[in-house]
Amino acid sequence: MSEANQGAVRQLSHFIDGQRAAGASGRFDDVFDPAEGRVSARVPIADAADVDAAVASAKAAFPAWSETPPLKRARLMFKFKELLEAHQDELAELITRDHGKLFSDAKGEVVRGIEIVEFACGIPNLLKTDFTDQIVGGMDAWNMRQPVGVAAGVTPFNFPMVVPCWMFVMAAVCGNTFVLKPSSRTPSASIRLAELFIEAGFPKGVFNVVQGHKEAVDELIAHPDVAAISVVASTPVAEYIYAEGAKRGKRVQALGSAKNHLIVMPDANLDQTVEAVINSAYGSAGERCMATSVVVAVGRVADDLLERLVPRVRSLRIGGGMEPDLDMGPLIDEAHRTKVLGYIDSGVAEGAKLVVDGRGHTVQGREEGFFLGGSLFDDVKPNMRIYREEIFGPVLSIVRVPDFASAVALVNAHELANCVSLYTSDGSTARAFARQIQVGMVGINVPSPVPSAWHSFGGWKRSLFGDHHAYGEEAVRFYTRYKSIMQRWPDSIDKGPEFTMPVVN
Ligand code: NAD
Repeated sequence: MSEANQGAVRQLSHFIDGQRAAGASGRFDDVFDPAEGRVSARVPIADAADVDAAVASAKAAFPAWSETPPLKRARLMFKFKELLEAHQDELAELITRDHGKLFSDAKGEVVRGIEIVEFACGIPNLLKTDFTDQIVGGMDAWNMRQPVGVAAGVTPFNFPMVVPCWMFVMAAVCGNTFVLKPSSRTPSASIRLAELFIEAGFPKGVFNVVQGHKEAVDELIAHPDVAAISVVASTPVAEYIYAEGAKRGKRVQALGSAKNHLIVMPDANLDQTVEAVINSAYGSAGERCMATSVVVAVGRVADDLLERLVPRVRSLRIGGGMEPDLDMGPLIDEAHRTKVLGYIDSGVAEGAKLVVDGRGHTVQGREEGFFLGGSLFDDVKPNMRIYREEIFGPVLSIVRVPDFASAVALVNAHELANCVSLYTSDGSTARAFARQIQVGMVGINVPSPVPSAWHSFGGWKRSLFGDHHAYGEEAVRFYTRYKSIMQRWPDSIDKGPEFTMPVVN
């Protein structure tokens, strides 16, 4: 039986200088099993001293690690990949127990995390740079990319493995050392990742974990030895960390909230579209930053689409994440469920048509779990709160528009621009869409267009603050500093008769 499955309340820890650490603060948070509604673990909450210890470890590890050849770093990543593969089920179960998402979904997350490691294994190639021979007479120009130093990461509750992997894997393989501050609501996977990292052979201090809240984040932002910060969070938190970090001259990449639209044209294959919408809107109880939150029904397709969606939403199979053959699990905690319920109430109050009402849904035998049924609103207007704000729950809105141009204008007017999709059979409409839409990640007949590890991930507008997207080559740019070198070796010293220059014809 794995650690996550023991029933007793587990005691979690930080991970500092190559080992689990209890921390100095003496403060703890409860971690809930959302499907049971009971406390499953206790996690320490870092104070300044804990953050200091983690940063000190990372700082001490940096000189040797940054001098380690990229090929050696890559070989350790190969070993780490093998260990992650060997522990896939264990990691997925830790994720499901903390978060509530289905085990199959959690396994998908683990695979995505492993793919980041696979990309990182190519670091010797990724760090190759340019050389210009004879940029001017007798002088060559070239550039190199060097690690930035100690980097920090702040991650959200909804992807406890893959989002940390976007950060610490790419930072470390580029020669940096790292301090991760995961969500205190889903802390278990981070500790196991850190243990497997050490088991793979990485030196202690290259990857540290401090559990906690704003106090720990503020300490990392202010710490003079932290050079770069990556954050994935809700937009107010992302914007705050971006501003505070930038003010101190740090490089910051800050990914924020989402309100993802899926536009359906009248020529879309409706069977495929409905399947995609159900998975994307309700999978993981809508707690994905790539979840579809708004379906934009264009022209005559609306009634037909609604008719097909309603029975599917009504019959969603909901239960504990470790059970088979389900569509979704619970929400993360009671506070978040209350927040989502508040959005449903506000949609009703503002005049949207609540076609399927997921309020009051219970799961037999799991009455204490944080469950909600799927909800579906029709006739949602752009001025309503349920349209403007991120809900992050199993609530889908349908907005009806007359034509394609209105659909594009609607999406482009939204301040959150993480991802968007178009369902159509028409190539020229799809091409115009990809070029004109003002959103960072675009799907064409793909509902949640998560870029693979060989590309990069990020939204536009208030969904991302900073210059770089996450992982892929963007991560190599973020976690390295560009240095340009001009070199000349004048033949000015009398070195003796042996140093004759060849004559090239
Ligand atoms: P959150 O903003 O509440 O917390 C995210 C992280 O920030 C946590 O580690 C938390 O401890 C820390 N934090 C919270 N308040 C803080 C504060 N005032 N100062 C400093 N740090 C603070 O987000 P969440 O509820 O854990 O996760 C869901 C949110 O994350 C959603 O808004 C979702 O869209 C977003 N998200 C975005 C992406 C993306 O790629 N754009 C991916 C996943 C999640």
